Amino acid sequence: MKNFDYLHHRKKRPNIMNGNISSLLNFLDKSPMSFNAVDTISKTLDRAGFTALKAADEWNIEPGGRYYVTKNGSAIFAFIIGTGDPDAGFRIISAHSDSPGFRIKPNAAMKSPGGVVKLNTEVYGGPILYTWFDRPLSVAGRVLMRGSDPFNPVTKIVKVERPLLTIPHLAIHFNRQVNDGNKLSRQKDMLPVLGIVKSELEADNLLMRSLDIDPAEVVGMELGLYDTTPAMTLGADNEFITSGRIDDLSMVHAAMTALLAEAATPCAATRVMAIFDNEETGSGTKQGAASPVLRDILWRITSLLAPTSSQAFYRAVARSFMVSADNAHAVHPNYVEKQDPTNHPSLGGGPVIKINANCKYMTDGDSAAVFAEVCRQAAVPFQYFVNHSDVAGGSTLGNILTSQIDLRGVDMGAAMWAMHSCRETASTIDHCHITRAFTTFYTL
Ligand code: ZN
Repeated sequence: MKNFDYLHHRKKRPNIMNGNISSLLNFLDKSPMSFNAVDTISKTLDRAGFTALKAADEWNIEPGGRYYVTKNGSAIFAFIIGTGDPDAGFRIISAHSDSPGFRIKPNAAMKSPGGVVKLNTEVYGGPILYTWFDRPLSVAGRVLMRGSDPFNPVTKIVKVERPLLTIPHLAIHFNRQVNDGNKLSRQKDMLPVLGIVKSELEADNLLMRSLDIDPAEVVGMELGLYDTTPAMTLGADNEFITSGRIDDLSMVHAAMTALLAEAATPCAATRVMAIFDNEETGSGTKQGAASPVLRDILWRITSLLAPTSSQAFYRAVARSFMVSADNAHAVHPNYVEKQDPTNHPSLGGGPVIKINANCKYMTDGDSAAVFAEVCRQAAVPFQYFVNHSDVAGGSTLGNILTSQIDLRGVDMGAAMWAMHSCRETASTIDHCHITRAFTTFYTL
């Protein structure tokens, strides 16, 4: 029987593990922090013939040209200029590069009895705290090194590959009620241990030594924790994906794959992929959706395509459409009662159009109809999410962005379980459906 199962899986695996899914798993593993995600995306765009632009430089753009610009190293905006008529507008897919987790505080080393060094951390966004216990964690993000110009330190993107830390849970013998609900302190219960040392000096340098960096050269850092367990598929027929950061890196990956798939096909509209940072903390930073960063990029593109028209930007925006892509809650087999009685997004049921009567989503009847039609043209199923009326639910960056740009658009995403867990679960086939829908959106 064991042999049979093994052969069964071996036979099934190639069908599900197509190039798109293995590419997604690889992208998730390479992108533990927004800085790493943007670095990975930049390298992929470089290989696909995109030209990197800098906000501080003069831009020269041409119809059909492929470009990208980054912001803070943690947000990225890629675009393929349309055939040259700014009135064709923009086709935008937006998503976010950040995920809830833990950031390492300055002066993080804390020496405990027995020489054990733990790190002082701060919670980022809204993670499900207890999913982070007893995992092989490591460190990633960016370190700023001293350069010749004090205003421009040298950025080093780091990702320690080997497991370096763990957050050990208290043994059940010290808290027999642990399985009856266990309130956690972010400052006391959630600190990861890094190693055992003999001296204070050794404790302070332990993290830098683990990063293979000379502490004397370091002038700043933004580092976070990540689970080193790789992203993988699971399920009887590999129908599920399990990984950290599926929210929202799976949507980032689908948008990037769609943008590259038909990059050489001429399109009248300018196709844009807008990946913002800090959605999980409210989007209120210079690289978040509440900032003018995307509006300025669209304005700059339009003014270069139509230098003599003072109204070209407004015409282009009025003819644009945005897909705000962020994951949605699938009906959970153990908590069916949490979902709306008549709308149950399922894993494998296709892209989810998110609707809220109190306008937490940018979706309205008009934009939902547009996206449903895109799905029909792409020959993929689609479904609707609305909250159970006694549940408050979440929000995303679509509406925040419309406070900066007068855009028409829809909020949608892939259905998933355990949103904001250290490991979330989504569907393999949905990722293929959504990639196909995005590709159609960029080519219609
Ligand atoms: Zn999200």
